[in-house]
Amino acid sequence: MGEFGVMKNIQMVDLRSQYEKIKEEVNAGIQDVIDTTTFIKGGKVNDFQHNLEAYLNVKHVIPVGNGTDALQIALMAMGLKPGDEVITPTFTFIATAEVVALLGLTPVVVDVDFDTFNISIESLKKAITPKTKAIVPVHLFGQNADMEAILALAKEHNLYVLEDACQSIGSVYTFSDGRQVQSGCVGDIGCTSFFPSKNLGCFGDGGAIFTNNDELAAKMRSIANHGMVVRYYHDVVGVNSRLDSIQAAVLDVKLKKLDEYCSNRLSAADYYDAAFSVTDKLITPARIAQSSHVFHQYTLKLNGVDRAGLIKYLADRGIPAMIYYPVPLHLQKAYQDARYKAGDFPVAEKLSECVMSLPMHTELSEEQLEYITKSVLEFVG
Ligand SMILES: *Cc1c(COP(=O)(O)O)cnc(C)c1O
Repeated sequence: MGEFGVMKNIQMVDLRSQYEKIKEEVNAGIQDVIDTTTFIKGGKVNDFQHNLEAYLNVKHVIPVGNGTDALQIALMAMGLKPGDEVITPTFTFIATAEVVALLGLTPVVVDVDFDTFNISIESLKKAITPKTKAIVPVHLFGQNADMEAILALAKEHNLYVLEDACQSIGSVYTFSDGRQVQSGCVGDIGCTSFFPSKNLGCFGDGGAIFTNNDELAAKMRSIANHGMVVRYYHDVVGVNSRLDSIQAAVLDVKLKKLDEYCSNRLSAADYYDAAFSVTDKLITPARIAQSSHVFHQYTLKLNGVDRAGLIKYLADRGIPAMIYYPVPLHLQKAYQDARYKAGDFPVAEKLSECVMSLPMHTELSEEQLEYITKSVLEFVG
C-alpha cells in the first residue's frame, strides 16, 4: 500500500478501524437483540445501565435518546420556572444552552479560562443573581472543569450543578482531600452523549443521565418516559427519550474497552505535546492536576499562525483539522440578545479565532502521528 496508503486514511475519528477489532463481539450482541426482538427496553439496556453504574460508581444511570435530551430532562427535573437563570460557558457546543432556551429558562453565558477552555470561576461569580437556579459546567474536550470551586459557589447560593459530561466520560476528578469521582458524577446531575464520535460512542444516537440523588433519579426516569410512573398514569409532562437495545448492545462491548480507549487517546496527546514543544507558535492543551484528561479533542491554540492557511496545507496532505468552536454562543444568530455584544467575553472570542483540533481517536498509529506533527511543524516553521 505504501506510505500514502496509510496516510490517506487519517481521519478526525476512525470508527471503522476501531470496529474491526471488536467486530465479532459487537455483531453477536446486535444479533442477539434481533433474535430476541426486544428492541426497546430490553435486557441489553438494563445490563448496560448496571455496568455503567458500576464503572462510574454512581447510584443511578438513566439511559436516554441522546445527550441533548439528557440535558433537557435533567433541567425539567429541577422544577424551574420561566425566567429562572441557568449559567453556561459561552465556549461550548450549542446543545448546552439550547435546552435552557427551549424550556423557556434564561440562558446566562459566562467566559472561559484561556488555558483549560473551561468555565471561568471569576466570570461565573459575577453572573450569579437572585434568579440563578443552576450552573451547567461543560467539561470541554475531555478535562473536568474546576468542580470544587463550582460546588462551593453552588452551595453558597443554593444552586443545582448539572455537568455536561458529553465529552468527558471516563475522566476522573480529584478533590483536594484526595477523593476521586468520575466525570459527570460530581454535581447533582451529569449528562453524557453516546453520539458515534464521542469517547464512548454507539452506532446511532444515545445518551445517559447520572445522579446519586434518588428523588431526582425517579423524576428523570419518569420524565424520559412520558411523565409516567404507573403505566398510563402521567404525573408530570414528559418526553419520549430512550436508548434502544441495539445501541446498548454496542455500548456494553465498548464500555469494557473504555479505559483502553482513554489511554490510547492519552498516548496520542502525549505524542503531539512532545512534538509541538519545540515551538511557541503552538500552545498545547493545558492539563490540570485535579482532573485526568480523556482528550475527546486535541486542541491547539495557534500563536501568530495563519489558521486557514494551515488547515488548507494539512488538507492538501490528507490531514483533517477542525475548529471547535468557531463562534461562541453569545455571537450565534439564534442567541442574539440585547444583553450581550461582541467583546463581552474576550477569552472565548479569542479562542474561537485561534483554536484548531487535530485528528484524535483510539486508533492513531505512530506513523500517522509522525506524519501529522511533521506536516504541522513544516507549515509553522
Ligand atoms: C455532543 C454534545 C452534546 C449533545 O449530545 P447529542 O447526543 O449529540 O445530543 C451536548 N454537549 C456537548 C458539550 C457535546 O459535546
